[in-house]
Amino acid sequence: MDILLYIIIFIMGTVFGSFFTLAVYRLPKKQDITHTHSYCPNCSHKLGFLDLIPVFSYIFLLGRCRYCKEKIRPRYLVIELLSGFIFVIVAYLMNISVQNLKLTVLAEGAFMALYLCFIFIMAGIDKENRKIEKSISMYGILISMAYIIYLCVIEKDSIYRYIIYLIFYILILILDTVTLKRYAKNSYVHGVILTVITMAVFTGEYVTINTIIMTAIAVAVNLLLHKIQNIRKKVRREPKNYGANIQYGFYLAISNILNLIFVLAWYKFFV
Ligand SMILES: [Zn+2]
Repeated sequence: MDILLYIIIFIMGTVFGSFFTLAVYRLPKKQDITHTHSYCPNCSHKLGFLDLIPVFSYIFLLGRCRYCKEKIRPRYLVIELLSGFIFVIVAYLMNISVQNLKLTVLAEGAFMALYLCFIFIMAGIDKENRKIEKSISMYGILISMAYIIYLCVIEKDSIYRYIIYLIFYILILILDTVTLKRYAKNSYVHGVILTVITMAVFTGEYVTINTIIMTAIAVAVNLLLHKIQNIRKKVRREPKNYGANIQYGFYLAISNILNLIFVLAWYKFFV
């Protein structure tokens, strides 16, 4: 029976994955993500149900648009599959099983799905545009609020554990609004900080600290490789500050998912 449950979770993951690619493509363009029909970015033909089945459509259409035969980027398939697998792994490590389908387990699972949505879309947009989309940050804050209320009311967690996060959220939101005109550049930093707070709410302080350390190492390695490359190519002066172009949100997301899986696995098998 568990197999069936995990197949359903995998399919859910691929559907979410398909939604992530859509959100990453449309949100920075300020396009509607729920009401407008999906369309081929090349020929603008509207896509039907059969064109939109995650994974399967790509395979049956042999990676091409049904209408104009333009190649579809394999990235869509990869993200859908990856999302499916991450959903299954996290659900398995969270002990979601048929025998264990209590309301609290389902609620935890649902919150985790909402969080993965946040982290995937934030990372995708940052990777493509080096930007933390404001609407995604706000979505993160909203689901954090809902999760904190859930933890305090249903699981009887103490609200004091979370007050610090709430204060940080409010401070950053005020700071971002006040400095919006003069320091538009800082917006990215604010987005990164909001992301880290949301991370802490959903994956805990321990995972978040590890995430930050791992991200710092990844960024340092990236900078070092860039330096070595420059020395090899004998580039004397850099035209632009390279560090200001690194997608910190993207690195944070990957480190966070790896750390989350590692810690959940640790708890499941060793504690
Ligand atoms: Zn097309």
